[in-house]
Amino acid sequence: MCLFVGRIQKNQKLLKIPLLCYFLDVIISNASYEEPSVISKERGWFIFVDLDAFYASVEILQHPELKETPMVVCMGSLQGRGVVSTASYEARKYGVRSGMPLRRAISLCPGLILVPAHHALYEEYSAKVYALLRTFSERIQKVSIDEACLELDPHIEPEKMALAIQKAIKEKLGLPSTIGVASNKLVAKIACDLAKPNGVKVVPKGTEKTFLAPLPVEKIPEVGPATVKKLHTMGVITIDDLAKIPEQQLIEKFGKRGRYFHLASLGIDLSPLELESKPRSMSREVTFNKDTKNLDLLRKELCGMSQTLAEDLKIQGLVAKTVFIKLRYSDFSTLLRQLTLTSPTHNPLEIASCGILLLKANLQKDRAVRLIGLGVRNLIERNKTRIEEKEEKN
Ligand SMILES: [Mg+2]
Repeated sequence: MCLFVGRIQKNQKLLKIPLLCYFLDVIISNASYEEPSVISKERGWFIFVDLDAFYASVEILQHPELKETPMVVCMGSLQGRGVVSTASYEARKYGVRSGMPLRRAISLCPGLILVPAHHALYEEYSAKVYALLRTFSERIQKVSIDEACLELDPHIEPEKMALAIQKAIKEKLGLPSTIGVASNKLVAKIACDLAKPNGVKVVPKGTEKTFLAPLPVEKIPEVGPATVKKLHTMGVITIDDLAKIPEQQLIEKFGKRGRYFHLASLGIDLSPLELESKPRSMSREVTFNKDTKNLDLLRKELCGMSQTLAEDLKIQGLVAKTVFIKLRYSDFSTLLRQLTLTSPTHNPLEIASCGILLLKANLQKDRAVRLIGLGVRNLIERNKTRIEEKEEKN
């Protein structure tokens, strides 16, 4: 994905901006878990909605002739250097998957139709779906551009409600979706994943643990490949295996995530919906037409992306506490590094300088870079007075 709106001039002295304090760590280690207080018996049903092959489905609405053809929405160049962003289910039958290089996708599925991404259009449809879902419940969390979780009254008939929501999305907006329903967000999401595409899965209250038991541990959100490896060495393959490991042992092995894994294995998730609709992070990335070791080029791309991110933050009235970079090398190995500021910012120069600092600290100069990304997270509402004072001082 390449989204530039401007460039920072060369003579801007990026690294002169003072950073009061920073630390580096790996983003994926940031899973957080808050101690639950009381189990509320009055919690409703959680309805997790995921739009099926969302980008591809929107493109098919624009071009009905693409229906039932193997097609992919692409990120980056269409000339073979880009990657698959979303594959239609017909393309998936050939083994084509998100994140796959286009060359590989084409070799698996000769005749594959490549469509460039139209992000503004997807945002537009996402907003329409969100507005439609709000007519079912005011209690709604926007999880991502194509996922949302609603909480409904405990006395509804969950399957009927899920089918009604699915039907409304299809009839009013033309989009296919899958819905998982359960007594909490975690189990609703897992149920939704299992019911794809175009399905509805309800997990009756009280059966959460039994429902999860036979599933592989990687079905639990935040259990990534590194964690799966560790769990496998402990003999943990299924969620039931995980449930049998003493909680203390998991905490010793995985820190506070161990407690989350323990509760998740039992089908317990007491986290409330995050009703705030503001984004939790923003990022931009560029895939180069040719892998590069050119530091000036990498720096220039970071400056361009920092301008776009700063403008997006200003539009949304947000400032960011954390800046992160993503580097993908020729062999597809990917590095994520972040830096946290003591004072949040929406200043493009500060964002760029953090990005460049991270780049210089982490770039392996002998390795060519295929993709570079820049992002911000830990977003908070902008405190006008404080930021404007700071801008004046600068
Ligand atoms: Mg989806």
